[in-house]
Amino acid sequence: MADNSPRHGGTAPLDGVLPIGAPTAVQERFAEHAATPVIELAGVSKTYTTGSITFEALRGVDLRIDQGEYVAIMGPSGSGKSTLMNILGCLDVLTTGAYRLAGEDVSELDEVELAHIRNRRIGFVFQQFNLLPALSAWRNVELPLMYAGVPSAERKARAMDALARVGLADRTANRPGELSGGQQQRVAVARALVSDPDLILADEPTGNLDSVSTADVLGLFDELHAARRMVRVRDGRVLSDTDPDDHAAAHVADGEGAAR
Ligand code: ADP
Ligand code: MG
Repeated sequence: MADNSPRHGGTAPLDGVLPIGAPTAVQERFAEHAATPVIELAGVSKTYTTGSITFEALRGVDLRIDQGEYVAIMGPSGSGKSTLMNILGCLDVLTTGAYRLAGEDVSELDEVELAHIRNRRIGFVFQQFNLLPALSAWRNVELPLMYAGVPSAERKARAMDALARVGLADRTANRPGELSGGQQQRVAVARALVSDPDLILADEPTGNLDSVSTADVLGLFDELHAARRMVRVRDGRVLSDTDPDDHAAAHVADGEGAAR
């Protein structure tokens, strides 16, 4: 979650990240930050229009995610998971409803401000790792910091740290083609972590991996976050929101799981 430490914002001040006004307003904001969820969706719907056909991919989604939470969004193909992730990631805009990211009403921001949010507050992990094949692992990982204007020595140090966090301290000089699928996705996770984002979004991060690499990457997410919460989606609606450690609730398939 946002804080005022130099580490969080790299070299740029936080009020350069979000249009949140004068320093006093920023400080007031952070004073109340402990209670501010990272994500707050209220009554969110998303309607796609293709020619004369409209399709309601999200139908009134309410969701709150707090700092430090690890949330798995599960659901059958076509249920609206990617639509939801794209809205959370400020890659697409909602049709109706409200979205507050770290307390900020995202629907009020323009394209430039959304791009700032994406770069500075959100780390993405994609199914196709989206690594640049000509660059070594650490060069791939430092890329978001280049966009953020972080000086080169600090970029390298932080990229090396992030790779160590994902267990790749001995593979920093390798190019993606010299790494296994699971290792490549670990590099992608390091790239998402390196800017110390408020939020990491991973849309089917194991979709391209064999079972061994899938276990490897899921194990990594478990290491990075103590507890996993599971949100089930079907037909554009949140069915249940359960604590997977509560096995009785986690195995309810159709939405009677204990709400948190
Ligand atoms: P999931 O990720 O759970 O498989 P999606 O969010 O990708 O589901 O899609 C949800 C529904 O919205 C699907 O029926 C899909 O066909 C539809 N959809 C997704 N993107 C678009 C789009 N750009 N235009 C029209 N329909 C779309
Ligand atoms: Mg999808």
